[in-house]
Amino acid sequence: MSLTPSQIKAPELGEPYLLTPGPLTTSFAVKQEMLRDWGSWDGEFRLMTARLRDDLLAMIDDHEGAYDCVPLQGSGTYVVEAMLGSFIPRDGKVLVLSNGAYGQRTAQTLAYLGRDYVVIDKGDYMPPRGVEVAQALAQDPAITDVVVVHCETSSGILNPIAEISEVVYAAGCRLFIDSMSAFGAISLTVNDLRYEALVSSANKCIEGVPGFGFVIARKELLAQSKGRSHSLSLDLHAQWATMNKTGQWRFTPPTHVVAAFLAALKAHQSEGGVAARGARYSRNRDVLVEGMRALGFETLLKDRWLSPIIVTFFCPADPKFSFQRFYDLMKDQGFIIYPGKLTVVDSFRLGCIGQIDEHVMRQVVAAVAKALAAMGVNDACPPEIAMTERTRLSA
Ligand SMILES: *Cc1c(COP(=O)(O)O)cnc(C)c1O
Repeated sequence: MSLTPSQIKAPELGEPYLLTPGPLTTSFAVKQEMLRDWGSWDGEFRLMTARLRDDLLAMIDDHEGAYDCVPLQGSGTYVVEAMLGSFIPRDGKVLVLSNGAYGQRTAQTLAYLGRDYVVIDKGDYMPPRGVEVAQALAQDPAITDVVVVHCETSSGILNPIAEISEVVYAAGCRLFIDSMSAFGAISLTVNDLRYEALVSSANKCIEGVPGFGFVIARKELLAQSKGRSHSLSLDLHAQWATMNKTGQWRFTPPTHVVAAFLAALKAHQSEGGVAARGARYSRNRDVLVEGMRALGFETLLKDRWLSPIIVTFFCPADPKFSFQRFYDLMKDQGFIIYPGKLTVVDSFRLGCIGQIDEHVMRQVVAAVAKALAAMGVNDACPPEIAMTERTRLSA
């Protein structure tokens, strides 16, 4: 699964590739759409908004028309906050499944919103499993809702949302998914997985530019959320009702971002939809991980938990390795990398998403080899403590 050279434009434009999980490297066609100004009130723009909503909804195979899509201005976090503030009853109690920065952010958001919540805290990267979620729900019947992060971008782990969904609904609770960094590349069809709502944003796997996020939620849930939100601008019911009635966003929409997003959606479709996008990213990851392991690097996660979105590697034990130097050497070769977020061991992350394919990934591995040579690092193997951490992951 690779892109044609005309699709891959970053180096031709003199830009580095962004090996980051959004903003990410977008196509020339996506960037080009931003050269035109649109009137937000105009019929053409209203049609663009309608198309955006329809195309996103089509990705969940909701043949019964039970769900709707509501876009909202802001970055992904704004949409997570909008979802929680609009859908979680004020007297509800939430179980947050946290294994990284985004799970923690969900808990922090609930604290701001004054919602009661408890957390299953799995640390930096251990997966929350169905069994422990079932236990937590059985022990605390006050819990009404569960929030899970699909791909926890801070480590790259793909959380087992199918087994989680099963136990959540078996306990009579409802599931909300932060699928920010996975939607569009990993299937979330409603026949395979039960959930109330998911959130994602323009600048992740659909490969648009940043500026808005969107919620895909049960219409029933949207209808019930009238008057619940604490916030005027983050009120999903109001955004939904206005959009359905007038075709417009309530407040100034990011018009250029929407135009660019439509080009990104078109490319997503012509690539072959969610399955093909996921296959390209998986291939990116496989080529990357194989090449990095050949240099002596180790991944934080065992293969079973590696997402096709982003991969965490341990920094080499060799004292000649410096992350800042490595970053600069990679940037000189046209690649922007991403620091790690682990508390115990030094690490860095390489993203597999955006307008990159396996050919680019081979160049990434070659650039890493050159950077190591420039630092005088002969073997990239991590310190002992890193491998001790890793063995804590049983599967
Ligand atoms: C990107 C991301 C978000 C949103 O982050 P923003 O910086 O607000 O766009 C939320 N959750 C996950 C899992 C993400 O990857």
